[in-house]
Amino acid sequence: MKVEKAEIVNQDFRVWCEHCCIRIAPHEERTAVHDKIYHLRCYSKLFSTAPKPKG
Ligand SMILES: [Zn+2]
Repeated sequence: MKVEKAEIVNQDFRVWCEHCCIRIAPHEERTAVHDKIYHLRCYSKLFSTAPKPKG
C-alpha cells in the first residue's frame, strides 16, 4: 500500500517566476538575477536580446 502525503514540508522552498508568475517546481531549472527568480526558459527569453547571426 502506497500512501503519499501531499504536505511535504522539508523546506519552505516556494518560488515564483518573476516573468510568467508560475510557480517554479523544485525540479525545474531556474535562475536568479538581482534577487529575482526566473525559469531558465523565461530568463532566456528576457535576456536573449543579443542579436544572433542567422545561419
Ligand atoms: Zn517563468
